[in-house]
Amino acid sequence: MQFRRLKLSGFKSFVEPAELRIEPGLTGVVGPNGCGKSNLLEAIRWVMGESSAKSMRGGGMEDVIFAGTANRPARDFAEVLLTAETDPSGPHGGELEVVRRIERGAGSAYRVNGKDVRAKDVALIFADAATGAHSPALVSQGRIAAVIAAKPAERRMMLEEAAGIAGLHVRRRDAEQKLRATEANLARLDDMLAGLE
Ligand code: ATP
Repeated sequence: MQFRRLKLSGFKSFVEPAELRIEPGLTGVVGPNGCGKSNLLEAIRWVMGESSAKSMRGGGMEDVIFAGTANRPARDFAEVLLTAETDPSGPHGGELEVVRRIERGAGSAYRVNGKDVRAKDVALIFADAATGAHSPALVSQGRIAAVIAAKPAERRMMLEEAAGIAGLHVRRRDAEQKLRATEANLARLDDMLAGLE
């Protein structure tokens, strides 16, 4: 999966719609203090399903919506669109377009190639492609020190994500839940049958 384009609207300091091309290879973001470098990286993490407002440097998720300035009113929504080139024979054809939108009082909604999906579906798409909101490929300030200081379990998570197997844990949990529910149903059925005998 190769990220190609990022579009932001009303996201943090990007009040006007802004569109960026992401070229193949390593991308660096440079600029003066406070110009929005970290906000850009956060937009990529957010559209991939980041659920922690704290890691978006906010108190609540709605804090990602442009909060207004002395001469500009606040916005009611924020939207980030990410397009990526994917395997043409894969489930999304050659191009993947993911949109996450948040409205004040209404929470987040996601679309993948025009269809409404759940946050979990989006996270799985990126996990299967060996990336995601916590990917070490997104190197923000202080991140290198954090990787060096990471505990073994945290390092294992990074390696599993890089290997593209992080999504398997989610699927395993889902399967275990279904198994437990089926076992409970079977036990109930046994009780009912015993009652009939
Ligand atoms: P530095 O180099 O100092 O780390 P940076 O280029 O990474 O800075 P960011 O931290 O991405 O900059 O952007 C900070 C700016 O974004 C601040 O001016 C802050 O006021 C603005 N900002 C953050 N959230 C919002 C919001 N919800 N509404 C409006 N502006 C916001």
